Amino acid sequence: MKTTTALGIDIGGTNICCALVSDEGELSFEQNFSTKNFIEPSHLVAQVYETYVALIQQNNFELAGIGMGAPNGNFFSGSIEHAPNMPWKGIVPLAKLFAEKFNCLSLLTNDANAAAIGEMQFGAAKGMKDFLMITLGTGLGSGVVSNGQLIYGHDGFAGELGHTIYDYNGRPCGCGRKGCLETYCSATGIVRTVQEWLSDETVITYLRNEENLTAKNIYEAAKAGDALALKAFDFTAEILGRKLADAVAVTSPQAIVLFGGLANAGALLFEPTKKYMEANMLFVYKNKVQLLPSLLKENEAAIIGAASLIYHQLKK
Ligand SMILES: [Zn+2]
Repeated sequence: MKTTTALGIDIGGTNICCALVSDEGELSFEQNFSTKNFIEPSHLVAQVYETYVALIQQNNFELAGIGMGAPNGNFFSGSIEHAPNMPWKGIVPLAKLFAEKFNCLSLLTNDANAAAIGEMQFGAAKGMKDFLMITLGTGLGSGVVSNGQLIYGHDGFAGELGHTIYDYNGRPCGCGRKGCLETYCSATGIVRTVQEWLSDETVITYLRNEENLTAKNIYEAAKAGDALALKAFDFTAEILGRKLADAVAVTSPQAIVLFGGLANAGALLFEPTKKYMEANMLFVYKNKVQLLPSLLKENEAAIIGAASLIYHQLKK
């Protein structure tokens, strides 16, 4: 009797992490590669094939498929499309390349969508049919699940809450426009906030002495009672709470799951975000939407999410 497994691949600009994931969400045979080692995407496919094919046979696994999460990943085309931080330019049909090499179901989507499916399959949104997944890392990624389905939109790019605009005259965003939500509400965003405030030299804060300011420094300073750091969390939470209240009006989710760097700040972020979200919510939604931390381990979530694409697809 063979054991079902899915290969999950988390593709980033720096690292590519793979593992076999059981239908219970257990990881095995993790491997990490440096993205820059693969000049061509076909080199990655060949490396993964070499690493896993014998392993799968020796361990009597049945490979249900290969799921991938990648920046600018398009579920419909199975391609990475013009991802700014990847060594491969243009349109990279990665799902097709894997399907041909392994002769199995291969699916690809963007990282936040994969995280949403992972959370629904094995994490905080287990059993839910309507929720929003928000990843607060370098940027702000989002995945929207409605009626048990991830919303891809007509072109595969639905759910970019991070690039809805908070301030039309605000901070420049990597997308070329101004004031996008992710320029405020992300690990990078909170650092920008503190840097702006530090330009006022009368402000007293421990953070002035940090050579390399990070979201983690700000979190630690806030825990130690630093007034500027606490204000930065409150400011970030206010913007996030307002925009989440708006997002709730679109799909009426049961819950919003927060994941990633900034979400690790726990109550420092969750409590004010919940407060501002409720304060800005239309009355019909008030006190109905849970704000939850992810239940997936940070170092495993991306791979589990990627593999979950396969399990979710097979359930349909
Ligand atoms: Zn933007």
